[in-house]
Amino acid sequence: MMSIFEQMESNVQCYANSFPVTFNRAKGAYLYDTQGRAYLDFLAGAGSLNYGHNPEPVKKALVDYILADGVAHGLDMHTDAKAGFMQAFQTLILKPRNLDYKMQFTGPTGANAVEAAMKLARKVTGRTNIISFTNGFHGVTLGAVSATGNQHHRGGAGVPLSGTTRMPYCGYYGYNADTLKMLDKQLSDPSSGIDAPAAFIVESVQGEGGLNVATFDWLRGLQALANKHGAKLILDDIQAGCGRTGRFFSFEDAGIKPDIVTLSKSISGFGLPLAVVLLKPELDEWAPGEHNGTFRGNNHAFITATATLNHYWADDRFEKQICERAALVTEYFQAIVDELGVTHARLKGRGLMQGIEFRNGEIADRITGACFDEGLIVETAGNHSQVVKCFCPLTISHEDLEKGLKIIQNAVTAEFNNKLQAAS
Ligand SMILES: *Cc1c(COP(=O)(O)O)cnc(C)c1O
Repeated sequence: MMSIFEQMESNVQCYANSFPVTFNRAKGAYLYDTQGRAYLDFLAGAGSLNYGHNPEPVKKALVDYILADGVAHGLDMHTDAKAGFMQAFQTLILKPRNLDYKMQFTGPTGANAVEAAMKLARKVTGRTNIISFTNGFHGVTLGAVSATGNQHHRGGAGVPLSGTTRMPYCGYYGYNADTLKMLDKQLSDPSSGIDAPAAFIVESVQGEGGLNVATFDWLRGLQALANKHGAKLILDDIQAGCGRTGRFFSFEDAGIKPDIVTLSKSISGFGLPLAVVLLKPELDEWAPGEHNGTFRGNNHAFITATATLNHYWADDRFEKQICERAALVTEYFQAIVDELGVTHARLKGRGLMQGIEFRNGEIADRITGACFDEGLIVETAGNHSQVVKCFCPLTISHEDLEKGLKIIQNAVTAEFNNKLQAAS
């Protein structure tokens, strides 16, 4: 008999192809299927569940708010819930980092924040072109997908994608090639054919693109180039932000202050949809309602986001814990990479967004498949889906993390032993 999913759901659905079970419960780092089987979740909603499933203090704040008949939907009107979030964000995140931004609440998806950021940069500069980078991912609405590299997503657009120019990301030609110098030369040459850019849009670690890392030097250089050429720097921190790299923002250690920052995925702390654009105050040239949307600012998400900031970001203990966990991932993955050698595997990423790059997507896919058989949900990323991407909740215990890493280690060992046997 066909399941209701096979009968009713469009072919566009995709994650269930990798994880073909039905889930009905989730807590912390675990998902449970309807048979009661537990799965360690190293996908974590593609980075939307940095604090795990149903984190207790966050859940309690939401339940209390609902039971007290707090406003659930208020368009973009003033609510107590929104005030509480902005206050906490200013006090706990922006002030201690010496950052000064205004907050724009867009429709609740990451793509919508990216659309708003791109529109704003075009509006304030009066320029059209936006420079995005190889293997970048910024969402699939038309503006965002025009800045996205992935051919599969671009192909879905159905119209020519325009208004962007692609440039090589840090390390695209190897870390010895000076991609910033190339970019500077092209932007300085009136006959290079590159229109003066309104903005550069960039991720400091490319989440979907395969955990490619921009060096701090490169990020600083990119900001300097943006200033030199009159472009705004849009830092898309939708996936790498909210603690994923060990700091609240992925760009903190580079010491830069992007003109515009986009946040979504884990900003609500609970998996509820919420997206924010941070913009330097002098860029706020928006007219009221110029970029609007019915679901701008989800009040339930404001409540959970505030609880998350208060619980995890009031001091630096959480950042330290993330760095400890990240070191454990590096230890395991480095051992695997050393064992296999550079022709077979490479370590990718930074913080708790690390992975192992294999020679092709088939190998990575067999490994994640074997992990799933052992009760671990882990996905691939990269231009050939060749990177096994460890995206555990940041709140995971040392024991659970080690348990998951051992499952990956065993799956890699099994894959390569089979290979060696097949070859002999
Ligand atoms: C996921 C993601 C987006 C798009 O967010 P959606 O909510 O899927 O629209 C944009 N940029 C980055 C870096 C992302 O990881």
